Amino acid sequence: MTEKQTQQRITHNWQSVQQQVRETAIACARDPGSIRIIGVSKYVDEKLTRALTSAGCCELGESRPQLMWQKSQAMQDVTPLGWHMIGHLQRNKVRRTLRCTPTIHSVDSERLLSAIADEAVLQGICIDVLLEVNISGDQAKTGFLPEALQSVLESRHQSGLEIRGLMAMAGWGTDPSAARKQFEKTRELRDQLEISTGRQLPELSMGMSGDYQEAIQAGATMVRIGSTLFDGVIERN
Ligand SMILES: *Cc1c(COP(=O)(O)O)cnc(C)c1O
Repeated sequence: MTEKQTQQRITHNWQSVQQQVRETAIACARDPGSIRIIGVSKYVDEKLTRALTSAGCCELGESRPQLMWQKSQAMQDVTPLGWHMIGHLQRNKVRRTLRCTPTIHSVDSERLLSAIADEAVLQGICIDVLLEVNISGDQAKTGFLPEALQSVLESRHQSGLEIRGLMAMAGWGTDPSAARKQFEKTRELRDQLEISTGRQLPELSMGMSGDYQEAIQAGATMVRIGSTLFDGVIERN
């Protein structure tokens, strides 16, 4: 594939996903503008990540902190560009990660939450975070158990971060209709927490390449899409 063909393919994929998101939103009477597409660039190098931004994607998701640091450093000329940390974040990587001022979707412990708040205060910034919830009950999945969230939300009124909502992933090997039930459970959990804590939790980060339409039907405000955007360009796993 020439560079030009690669760009054309990625642009085509980006536009198809945008179109699909729009159609899905309209079909369930939602405003398409209320759904953000996070382009998950974790599979590809800087060059292909740039191709995705050239196609029009201006929010990128990475699951490995070091790769986010490297790419955000190398791509400072691309604006506007927002970063999203979607993978497990160790506390010893918080400092460098916050230099990218990302939205952090994968906050899965109170200790991590505190570490982010402390470091953000030091850096004089405020970080948007989402609490990752283990909605599928998979042992292998990270995230807070649903019943733990109430106390986490009640104990957090500190500066340096703002808890904007919840992030969830369907369990491994879940088919789309079972995934949809898990996404609906996540939305219901969010609704209950808003009532019981009196806090606003407007964001729901749910849905990946295989199940983003179900996630939108269930109320997702951010979908995290990777492999579909690089279809025909990289090997699918
Ligand atoms: C890799 C990844 C995605 C994107 O998955 P695709 O199936 O490639 O779209 C979304 N969310 C998280 C947390 C991921 O690790």
